[in-house]
Amino acid sequence: MTSPDPAACSSTSAGTTGDGTDHRPHPLLADIADRLERLDRYGLRRTRRVVAARQGTHLHVDGRDLLSFCSNDYLGLSGDHRIVEAACRGAREFGVGAGASALISGHALAHERFEAELAAFVGAQRAVLFSTGYMANLGIVPSLVGSGDAVFSDRLNHASIVDAARLSRAEVHVYPHLDMGALAGLLEACAAPHKLVVSDAVFSMDGTIAPLADLVALCEAHDAWLLLDDAHGFGVLGPDGRGTPALFSVNSPNLIHMGTLGKAAGVAGAFAAGHAPVIEWLMQGARTYVFTTAAPPLLSSALSAALAIIGGEDWRRARLRELSQALRAGLAGTGYRLLASDTAIQPIVIGDNQATLTLSAALLDRGIWVPAIRPPTVPEGTARLRVSLSAAHAIQDVQRLVGALRELDESRR
Ligand code: PMP
Repeated sequence: MTSPDPAACSSTSAGTTGDGTDHRPHPLLADIADRLERLDRYGLRRTRRVVAARQGTHLHVDGRDLLSFCSNDYLGLSGDHRIVEAACRGAREFGVGAGASALISGHALAHERFEAELAAFVGAQRAVLFSTGYMANLGIVPSLVGSGDAVFSDRLNHASIVDAARLSRAEVHVYPHLDMGALAGLLEACAAPHKLVVSDAVFSMDGTIAPLADLVALCEAHDAWLLLDDAHGFGVLGPDGRGTPALFSVNSPNLIHMGTLGKAAGVAGAFAAGHAPVIEWLMQGARTYVFTTAAPPLLSSALSAALAIIGGEDWRRARLRELSQALRAGLAGTGYRLLASDTAIQPIVIGDNQATLTLSAALLDRGIWVPAIRPPTVPEGTARLRVSLSAAHAIQDVQRLVGALRELDESRR
């Protein structure tokens, strides 16, 4: 039997000394110490910094003001006073917690309204809310496919998709990044009764966009479902920020449009949108929807306000384009390798973990926070600085980043 208290275990194990004290580390704790030491050795240990206060893209950390390029708050909405006010109104109206799962009594009028607004916004018959994007993927995939079925997954898909596919017990076919020829071959050769293709719409560590029209055509031709994870496209891409399906003008009964609401929408949560019977089935069958307390209704009140801003303030997307052009033009002719990205995610691939950490630390010394992304988040040998732009950035912020990177590039040569 295992004990929940490791300290209690060590005092009863063999090898105690004369005074009754056991000086040997508990085997499980020794194993953890080994694993942590390995993370340190390979430059993979992550740390958390405490953000004491936040003003747009400026964060107060350890007594310093840092210009941040870390956030997924692409439209600069997370601190918007109109959304904060809507959240407060929501709290006054519905309280702080939902009090129950959605299928018991936790589904409030604020949730119901926002689901309807969202479905209309993305052009779907119906939408359902999940508490996070991770939970959405973890619930959706196993509710659609199971043992004997097949999942087809882009090699660079988000971790939540990888975990969801494993959880489903379907056979998982991983195809090379964006390789539609390979996917077509795999679908062709597959005789499983239910097939599900899953893809990020905008790949979170590369900024590449999935060829959605091709994906939809392949899925329709092979009677496969398509789950599109639009975490980084919703609010940013397409007319009025309606997301990647709107960018490609696609709509299909085979398509389930999933998006997260903690990034461009600036709040928290996620949605699945699509044909009404499919969404009804997700509500019945997605375990991460059924067996969890509904998200606080005040978040849906906030999200309704956020959705109005996403649709109504196109200047935010125009600003993002202007910022990414300034960054790319500013770093042209330097030793930095920027991936081809038209999105708010602008990765600079360095390769070596330690070199990436060193560069990130040098930027931090200059008051600029750009995260070093390392394996396992990205493939081995492709560690990178991940620059995330936000409509809350001023062009001068990007110029400051470019200036610092240029100076560091010269000192590397
Ligand atoms: N999918 C993708 C592509 C993501 O990038 C993320 C978040 N990093 C998620 C899902 C998970 O979303 P959430 O943060 O809402 O759990």
